Amino acid sequence: MEDIEIVQQNTPEPIEKIANKIGLTADQIEPYGHDKAKLSMAALQRLQQNPAGKLVLVTSINPTPAGEGKSTVTVGLADALQQRGQHPVIALREPSLGPVMGMKGGATGGGYAQVMPMADINLHFTGDMHALTAANNTLAALIDNHIHQGNTLNIDPKRIVWKRALDINDRALRETVIGLGKPANGEMREEGFDITVASEMMAVLCLATDLEDLKKRLGNILIAYTFDRQPIFVRDLQVQGALTVLLKDAIKPNLVQTLEHTPTIIHGGPFANIAHGCNSILATEAAIHAGNYALTEAGFGADLGAEKFLDIVTPHLSKAPDVIVVVATVRALKYNGGQKLADLSTEDIHALENGYVNLHRHLQNMQRYDIPVVVSINRFVSDSDKELAVLQDLISQEGLTSAITDVHEQGGKGGLALADLVIEAATEEVPDYQRLYDDDSSIIEKLTTIAQEIYGAKDVEFTSKAKQQLRLIERHGWDKMPICVAKTQYSFSDQPKLLGAPTGFTLTVRDLIPKLGAGFIVAMAGNVLTMPGLPKHPAAEKIDIDGQGRITGLF
Ligand code: ADP
Repeated sequence: MEDIEIVQQNTPEPIEKIANKIGLTADQIEPYGHDKAKLSMAALQRLQQNPAGKLVLVTSINPTPAGEGKSTVTVGLADALQQRGQHPVIALREPSLGPVMGMKGGATGGGYAQVMPMADINLHFTGDMHALTAANNTLAALIDNHIHQGNTLNIDPKRIVWKRALDINDRALRETVIGLGKPANGEMREEGFDITVASEMMAVLCLATDLEDLKKRLGNILIAYTFDRQPIFVRDLQVQGALTVLLKDAIKPNLVQTLEHTPTIIHGGPFANIAHGCNSILATEAAIHAGNYALTEAGFGADLGAEKFLDIVTPHLSKAPDVIVVVATVRALKYNGGQKLADLSTEDIHALENGYVNLHRHLQNMQRYDIPVVVSINRFVSDSDKELAVLQDLISQEGLTSAITDVHEQGGKGGLALADLVIEAATEEVPDYQRLYDDDSSIIEKLTTIAQEIYGAKDVEFTSKAKQQLRLIERHGWDKMPICVAKTQYSFSDQPKLLGAPTGFTLTVRDLIPKLGAGFIVAMAGNVLTMPGLPKHPAAEKIDIDGQGRITGLF
């Protein structure tokens, strides 16, 4: 059965009832229809007065075409905790329209572990993505207009670093020319588009702690350099107020529910390969204080999403994770171990044992943060009992516990064993969590630490462009910020085909981009695109709607 058909068979509770579950009254939420609502800023303040619950971070091995199922496990685990009488609240990222229309697969879980209304959430939801796109492009238009109207700030049109954005996979917009035609059409110059989820607007929204902080961060965004190479910020244009107005509703987290009516907060959706990969701080903070278990998911593999959650996001949260759940599948490990995609349904213990190195390294990496780690083996129907037993055995040889989860087929019931492990792990007394690096270290030191300790690289190399950027960033004193690496999600390295647990490679940094509103430096490693393209057969070819408004083909 399609994911959307399963959701269509379920009736959501009125959103007021879900709000009541987290102690909020009807007037503290702003309903968008019957099954979605925004949490008002007053509601967020009200929740902060509650004691903090346990924070569970869900991450995984490197993604493969076989599918891993982090969102599915996050949703199923929360439903299982609810079945165990706990009060879980989920915090997830908002899906981007680009991949929804491109590659099959949404961001609202799968099977019987899903969030609803899944079609709305995957499409326009409460309009946050559109607001971000509008704010991003308003800023772009204001920059070009400033130049056209006399350019009192002396902006060099060839040194504008702010790009336009669209939440659609559109390869034709990666590089373009604007201002063609008459003088009244503005300065002609080269321009490019990023997907909205890779934009700094998105990162700023996700890291802002309130409206004032949002405005301050927007003001700090670096947009261009002058002809004499001085940096120009949004605050120099004095438009941070207007941009904040455009985002006044988008900053409020969205409340929805799982198929089993577990409260779920969905807000902010940066990709983890080209951006920082975690839902908003406001959503995670709300979840931490709204129940006794907050569950959040970091995008792609633990080398990207979880590292960024722990090194970029956690310092802004009221607490570090109490437990890390690493999701793995037999199929994905066999793929890492050399089995062909078409053969993954056939038992292959040898490929599983070979591919295990990928999980092994992620487990070692996560343990260095001094947070208890448990493994969820997300079961697919094709997994053999022997494969599952071998995998559990390999994990226990590391001194770690694992649970086979079957939430895709069974919902929360299929996650009870994992829920029990999480409850047990969350009671462990943990020492203060250890960040990987100190923000005050140099950019080279920070990048070398991430590359060697998390990715297994031999060393880091900088192209001449990256070296030039490094000197510029150091000269302006912007180097004391965390690093957000942009690289392929498929490998620990910057080369998508290096599966398993590669060592001895060099991580090539080809650009360093200061994101001063977000407060991190993006290091572009390998050939990673900030505007994806559509595949040969996009998901859009399968999506349809009938005369009654019934959608099909949305996963
Ligand atoms: P991630 O969050 O890691 O990207 P998702 O949870 O979104 O992964 O799952 C990716 C796809 O795989 C979804 O279409 C989901 O329905 C499917 N999926 C996940 N787990 C299973 C499973 N155990 N059996 C079958 N399909 C699954």
